[in-house]
Amino acid sequence: MATEVGAQGGYRYTFTDGETSQEYQCHICTLVARDPQQVTCCGKIYCKSCLESSKKKRQKLTCPDCNKQLTGKYFEDMRAEQGIKSLEIYCTNTDSGCQWMGAIKDIDTHLSISCPYQQVPCTNGCGAMVQRIEMEAHVTDDCQRSLVKCQHCQREGSRQLMTSNNHLNKCPNYPVRCNNDECEEVIPRRLQAAHHMTCPKAIVACEYSNIGCNRKMKREEKEEHSRESVEEHLQLAVRKIEKLELKTINSKVFRLTEFLQKKTQNKFWNSSDFYTSPRGYRMRLRNHLSKS
Ligand SMILES: [Zn+2]
Ligand SMILES: [Zn+2]
Ligand SMILES: [Zn+2]
Ligand SMILES: [Zn+2]
Ligand SMILES: [Zn+2]
Ligand SMILES: [Zn+2]
Ligand SMILES: [Zn+2]
Repeated sequence: MATEVGAQGGYRYTFTDGETSQEYQCHICTLVARDPQQVTCCGKIYCKSCLESSKKKRQKLTCPDCNKQLTGKYFEDMRAEQGIKSLEIYCTNTDSGCQWMGAIKDIDTHLSISCPYQQVPCTNGCGAMVQRIEMEAHVTDDCQRSLVKCQHCQREGSRQLMTSNNHLNKCPNYPVRCNNDECEEVIPRRLQAAHHMTCPKAIVACEYSNIGCNRKMKREEKEEHSRESVEEHLQLAVRKIEKLELKTINSKVFRLTEFLQKKTQNKFWNSSDFYTSPRGYRMRLRNHLSKS
């Protein structure tokens, strides 16, 4: 991170002179001391945080080096601090390619403002940590919060939404494979319904289903079926016609019985019961036969 606020122990930087100066070494952590404290007993330097954790661990404040009582016997070493802050170091991102070298006191500014290889939070606020130099590419190509156009339907939304199944499962232009067996067609979702109306692999009924052919087949086989089944279809048609005729024959014809007799006697003639249609009304004709 840019700053090492709250960091424990000395500085872990790589020094340009190759070795850490003995003069500023903390005698606890052996790194260059951070917030150097000098003890009056033996003149050694310790990091402030190292002294504090040593005190906690040993439950007394004694010099870790010569074991003398330390309360009130150490001070903030301003001279050492100045020397330490001026030590030359490499940027902590040297491995990523940063060429920067400078004093310890300047590295925080370098990292937080200019180091191209420092990881910083995405400027779009997606939460990702990205190297400063990669930020533009991240925002353009990767960032889940960037506005993008769906590559299929050109609608705009966050990359996260437009590339999610939430959108793709209903994107009207998303290419979908026809779900009819053996059909290899891949078509935009919105054209699926239209395709099904003409898909050669769609299962359809024989065009003579209304006269009783129950065959189902792929649309592409329909023509052949019609050609091959002429005789069968003809038979079905004949049977259908016969049935229709039977229905016509079945219509009721009444015969007026004892017509003359009833007429002379001025009587009613009653027909037998009949139905207006199968499962229709049940009726009976009553005819008054009068002399005229
Ligand atoms: Zn230390
Ligand atoms: Zn000492
Ligand atoms: Zn750098
Ligand atoms: Zn982002
Ligand atoms: Zn889309
Ligand atoms: Zn198809
Ligand atoms: Zn048929």
